[in-house]
Amino acid sequence: MDAQVSTAPGRDNARIEGRILGFADEFIALRRDLHQHPELSFQEHRTAGIVAGHLEGWGYEVTRGVAGTGVVASLRRGQGSKSLGIRADMDALPIQETTGLSYASVHPGVMHACGHDGHTAILLAAARCLAEGGEFDGTVHLIFQPAEEIGAGAAKMIAEGLFERFPCDAVYGLHNWPNVGVGHIGCVTGPAMASVDQARITVRGKGGHGAAPHETVDPVVVSAHLITALQTIVSRNLNPLDAGVVTVGSIHGGSASNVIPDSVELKITVRSFRPEVRALLKERIPALARAQAESFGAVAEVDYQWGFPAVVNHAEETQLARQLAQDTFGEALVERDFQPRAASEDFANMLQAKRGSYLFFGNGAGPSLHNPGYDFNDAILAPAASYWTRLAERFLA
Ligand SMILES: [Zn+2]
Ligand SMILES: [Zn+2]
Repeated sequence: MDAQVSTAPGRDNARIEGRILGFADEFIALRRDLHQHPELSFQEHRTAGIVAGHLEGWGYEVTRGVAGTGVVASLRRGQGSKSLGIRADMDALPIQETTGLSYASVHPGVMHACGHDGHTAILLAAARCLAEGGEFDGTVHLIFQPAEEIGAGAAKMIAEGLFERFPCDAVYGLHNWPNVGVGHIGCVTGPAMASVDQARITVRGKGGHGAAPHETVDPVVVSAHLITALQTIVSRNLNPLDAGVVTVGSIHGGSASNVIPDSVELKITVRSFRPEVRALLKERIPALARAQAESFGAVAEVDYQWGFPAVVNHAEETQLARQLAQDTFGEALVERDFQPRAASEDFANMLQAKRGSYLFFGNGAGPSLHNPGYDFNDAILAPAASYWTRLAERFLA
């Protein structure tokens, strides 16, 4: 276990770092226990129970059952009216783990392949540090969110009155990020992660014998043209300075070489970083699909599903995060020009409701997120917990 916190000198560092290092091993053990017992979205009962139990023990006012398995813990100090929200997600993925670790998942087909076990343990360690010696004036609300992986937990918490019941002047979150130096921090002002939407297109033609194509309307040929035409949306309709992704990830139709099927189904993931681009993609994909199908005498039925928006970090809150990272870890650990990521994150919903910022913590070299060999790096648990503690103290100074 490597629980070193690499920090710049200073009174706060010594005070917070010393405290966290004192109990870091307990939280590494807790993180590994969560890893061993992963739970899918909205089923985080055991995890939520452990989280809430600890927080109650440290004197937090704990609210369970927000959005099903979500937990919010509040701590007040002094007379200050400011308040800060910090969020960790708790859920795992439907993946069969292949790490071979001693604390690998005991639940077949379920694993923490996104490091949410780490996010939860980090915020718990910070919670203990704040409760036992936090110097702040105001209120911290620690938000333990369910169901990030299906993009539903944040929206459900907000719909259940999260920010009315637990008012926050700003809200922060972080994600561990592979192939970024261990303990390095990435801060991005503005769009940081992509929006994600989905389209399902059913191309309906007229099936028949493979030897008599003239008596059919072949939806396979229509789909081939459509897939090619879809590539022109990003290349020809989007401003070259904007970014967007239109990926046909699935195509299904037909079952035999000599039968032309009635229909073909395409599934498409759509990503962008700006609302204007998102709207353009939503307009162009169905329009192009319908016109393209019609030109061949077929019909395209389009089911377009809004997912969730881009993660857009607010400038002032991101500047505070960046400055704090420099003060805490020193210039060398703050990534210069950290680039936005085209993955998505439902924290986007919280940043639409509240000001704030979403940060990236380097997990070191290794497999990608959602890979069956992924594991959160325990070396960043203590530094990240110390960072959250300091953020609360600085925001609520
Ligand atoms: Zn994930
Ligand atoms: Zn994640």
